[in-house]
Amino acid sequence: MAGPDPALPDSFTPSSSSVYSDQFGFYSLDCNVPGLSKVILDKLNMKDYKDYRAALEGKGKVGFRSYKEMFQNLEDTYKFCACCSKLPVSLPDPKALKRCIKCLNVYYCSKDCQKKDWSLHKKFCKTLHAVSIDRLVEWLVHTGDLPFATEVWSRPAKDVRCWDDWVSMQGDLTPRLEPILSGKNMTDLWTNGCRPRPEEAELRESVWRVCSEFFSRPLAIGLGIQETRLDPYSRPLTVHLVGAGHDETLGARVTDMDELSRMFPGHQGLEVVMVGPEVVQGPIMRPPLRAFGPRGRVYISAYKGLYHQFWEEVVEKGEAAKPDLVVGFHPGFHASQGLGEGWLPTLLLLRDYSIPSMFTMYNDAELTYSLQILNELEMDVKDTGPNPFSSQKPEQVQTSPNKPPSYCNAFYIYFQGLLETQQEEE
Ligand SMILES: [Zn+2]
Ligand SMILES: [Zn+2]
Repeated sequence: MAGPDPALPDSFTPSSSSVYSDQFGFYSLDCNVPGLSKVILDKLNMKDYKDYRAALEGKGKVGFRSYKEMFQNLEDTYKFCACCSKLPVSLPDPKALKRCIKCLNVYYCSKDCQKKDWSLHKKFCKTLHAVSIDRLVEWLVHTGDLPFATEVWSRPAKDVRCWDDWVSMQGDLTPRLEPILSGKNMTDLWTNGCRPRPEEAELRESVWRVCSEFFSRPLAIGLGIQETRLDPYSRPLTVHLVGAGHDETLGARVTDMDELSRMFPGHQGLEVVMVGPEVVQGPIMRPPLRAFGPRGRVYISAYKGLYHQFWEEVVEKGEAAKPDLVVGFHPGFHASQGLGEGWLPTLLLLRDYSIPSMFTMYNDAELTYSLQILNELEMDVKDTGPNPFSSQKPEQVQTSPNKPPSYCNAFYIYFQGLLETQQEEE
């Protein structure tokens, strides 16, 4: 069996649909322009992907001397011609790469390329404008300015069916947003970021989109609790978050899932254990509960390793509660090189122990492929569809900006155990 920290070859390059976020919370949906990941590494002053990962884990150094340099370097990773994919190094004059003045997001090596691309780019220019603001505003999650504080739900969870319902319970957000919008970190951001500070209304919308992504995680878990018909008011519940990685654990705080307590006020105790080989060191890195903590609170812990190892080394030894529900955000079955290495043992474990499970997907294509995998494993898929609490923040396919964006937790699949017909045959 592989160790808890599977080593990647030095030559590892992310596959075409995987998602990475760096230490400062910037996402990139990688990577089909040849050489681009090398460019990112060069910009970060790192020699290979191992260096990059070490820096993400806080074990290596990040080559920034100032915020300005950090934002500049990150902006540089978007500098390639959106039409012919040329990188600045392959141009006679690297400065000839010019940004689309409408979105300030995509670059062109020449007027010709820009003209040629416009019929396609015009469909995405407006979204990409938002994307380029959001990827800066996202930094405020890492500074702790975001998300904004939220209210206890005044309605039962089952009656809150969409974001509009949720927002209507929040009351006037203005006094909560004001200090964020006028705060020091927001000012620093636009002093150092590679674009002028947007209009106030635009900024508010961006803050909302970034927060919607943050809240989409606890809300997806809440949706899973409801799908499973678990009752958090009758007993404490344990949720295992499988395949947790940078998105959930980088800079994570022990309060990150507190929205669940606002969703189920006065619950008997909720525990979320994040498990994955890419879990990042931080305050949530602590043992799971053996006895339940205080009522009405969410307790987060984390384990770095594959889920079936966690099961063998911790759950089976009675050092962690068995899960009432297993949730996975964007497992990316399609991106893993052979299901066998990563997900297969986990999926078989979930199936054979008949554990209620809910996984989310970025888009239609990932949903279709994931369903195919689950069907091949003869899983009993009980429900699937668009997630009403999908993130509202568009994710650019970094190296192919002129493609429809993805959204975190946009779709979900709820499944449990083997299909009945298969059980009869056994
Ligand atoms: Zn070009
Ligand atoms: Zn544009």
